[in-house]
Amino acid sequence: MKVVSTIEDVRAQVKAWKKEGCTIGYVPTMGYLHEGHASLMERARKENDKVVVSIFVNPMQFGPTEDLASYPRDLEKDSVLCEKMGVDLIFHPEPEEMYHEGFSSFVDMTVLTEELCGLSRPVHFRGVCTVVCKFFHIVTPDRAYFGQKDAQQLAVIRHMVDDLSMDIEIVGCPIVREEDGLAKSSRNTYLSAEERKAALILSKSIALGKKMAEDGEKDTTTIVNAMTKLIETEPLAKIDYVKAVDGLTMQQIKEVKKPMLVAIAVYIGKTRLIDNFILE
Ligand code: AMP
Repeated sequence: MKVVSTIEDVRAQVKAWKKEGCTIGYVPTMGYLHEGHASLMERARKENDKVVVSIFVNPMQFGPTEDLASYPRDLEKDSVLCEKMGVDLIFHPEPEEMYHEGFSSFVDMTVLTEELCGLSRPVHFRGVCTVVCKFFHIVTPDRAYFGQKDAQQLAVIRHMVDDLSMDIEIVGCPIVREEDGLAKSSRNTYLSAEERKAALILSKSIALGKKMAEDGEKDTTTIVNAMTKLIETEPLAKIDYVKAVDGLTMQQIKEVKKPMLVAIAVYIGKTRLIDNFILE
């Protein structure tokens, strides 16, 4: 496994692989890798000749009051996991490699980014789309793997690839959870022991909403209200949003339909966590 930090080195390696007729699977991450990331790598490993993972805490997708500086980083530990998962190349650029002085081109999406996380994190998806577009141009993968954990991000990337006619297959992978149900996240490391227990309220409310929808509840307000009420029983939890949206357009819906995304963002203490379920 190679670890490189320049765009030039990635391009040279990918070019050589393509010359041999290899297909490339790509997994973008911000590092501090866990089993959720590993599931993406595993899938990429199965479906491609070569697997590229990027590890980059992208400054552009963080708001001014968010956790860019404190976001956990551990390249050594990440490399061990990547090696174990059969990754061929880690791309680990410094911000200056991705954003040279005078950088001024952005990928901006309307509609899909105006709900859910886009409302509470106004610059987030512009940063995500811009960096993913850049990575796609650098890595030129055949397939790219994203987690359903970030359901709005997955929908946004699918939409970007379609809108901008990028010749890349986007593969969505299911949410990987801890044994007790908490969705795995690099940000879980922020939680104290007490907060870790309190964080279970997210997956519990997701399980409740999912059951109601699967049992035939047709009114999204009834589902959202029941989930909200449950989250409010946890004193350490503060709701950012609990919403039911169209699974493709991310616009709020009143009546249950398929595909429907029910997504939540909840602060546990200072840590903002997200979770969701999809009705397909
Ligand atoms: P991140 O490093 O948090 O930016 O995540 C990189 C990729 O891993 C994204 O596509 C995430 O959706 C995915 N991912 C993160 N956590 C999980 C999880 N618990 N299960 C599945 N995929 C995940």
